[in-house]
Order: sequence, then structure tokens, then C-alpha cells
Amino acid sequence: MPVRPVLTLLLGDVLRLRRSHPCGGDSWLVDRLGADIGLRCQTCGRHVLLERATLERRFVEFVQCGDAALNAAVSSVPEPAADEDR
Ligand SMILES: [Zn+2]
Repeated sequence: MPVRPVLTLLLGDVLRLRRSHPCGGDSWLVDRLGADIGLRCQTCGRHVLLERATLERRFVEFVQCGDAALNAAVSSVPEPAADEDR
């Protein structure tokens, strides 16, 4: 199997995840990027943090893409490849 490319996330992306929220929603808005990814449930508004690795495992598809121009303004440096050793 080919190695999956690192999932590229942008602020404002809406994702569909394999695991739905207890409220029944399965789409999440990305509102924080870092070692943990901040996600807001689009159905009930609850906010959660997921480790990037966990998010990548649960990721199904993009529902809506964030604004690339906005993200370029926030950080002009591309994210480094996973260099966390855990
Ligand atoms: Zn929810």
C-alpha cells in the first residue's frame, strides 16, 4: 500500500470523520491547528481537541475547504512533516 500523504488542514475546513459525535453530527470545523487540532461540531457546537494522528485515522473527507488566502496570512511557513517522536 502506498504511504498516505500527510493530511493538509486549513483553518475553516469542514471535515467529515468516521466517528460521529454523540449528538449525531459527523462534520467538524477546524478552528485550531497545532500538535492538537481544534474541532467544532457543526451540529451541536461542542469544541474538542484531537491529536493530529487520531484525526488522520478518523478522517473521511472534506465537506468544505477553508480559505487558503486567510491561512497563508496566518502562517506562511508550510507545516513540517511529522517530526514528533511519539
Ligand atoms: Zn455534536
